Amino acid sequence: MYRGMYYYGFDWTVVLLIIGMLLSMAASAKLKSTFSTFRRIGSMSGMTGAEAARRILQRAGIYDVQVVPIKGELTDHYDPRTKKVALSEPIYNQSSLAAVGVAAHECGHAVQHATNYAPLSIRSAIVPIANLGSTMAWPLFVLGLIMSFRPLLNLGIVLFMGAVLFQLVTLPVEFNASSRALKLLQADGILAEQEVRGARKVLGAAALTYVAALAASVLQLLRLVILAGGRDRD
Ligand SMILES: [Zn+2]
Repeated sequence: MYRGMYYYGFDWTVVLLIIGMLLSMAASAKLKSTFSTFRRIGSMSGMTGAEAARRILQRAGIYDVQVVPIKGELTDHYDPRTKKVALSEPIYNQSSLAAVGVAAHECGHAVQHATNYAPLSIRSAIVPIANLGSTMAWPLFVLGLIMSFRPLLNLGIVLFMGAVLFQLVTLPVEFNASSRALKLLQADGILAEQEVRGARKVLGAAALTYVAALAASVLQLLRLVILAGGRDRD
């Protein structure tokens, strides 16, 4: 018998999901608009994202990391396993403030990797837990609800916490990569001071999407805890 949370035919905790979704949508809309503004402003040096990335890596004394183009939009990332700074084609080929800023950010991750930046190592270490959490938490939780079996609900919640922890550790990694990027861009003279301000806006908007994702996950976690508590009262 469904009671408690479902007794009135409406699971109000869905509101938490909706708030999380709206936060994520707002952050990604902000990123898209900031990005489209600064991809139209060319850098004075005329350096493309790829050229800027190679220069930054060289200046940082990193010679074993490749800069490669990849398909898609905003698919840019640093892969620590293959030691590749992968830049989406527009970022790779263009010399806009957005392109140079994003390219430098990914190099920031390469520098973190080369210098054994602790949050990056922690983040890599909890990837398996996070993956397990994001795939298994809900199925186990729902099964726990159906069976009214508290240990299963708890296991679902703990697994989901693993996914939330991953997103939490992602924040210092991302903020640090961006602050390194902006310093490197200015120190190397790739961007002038007023241009760095534009790149900072792009990277700030990108960082905001990670904050929104974390907030959405925390709200989901709260929802699980409330739903599990609701079962207890039955
Ligand atoms: Zn990043």
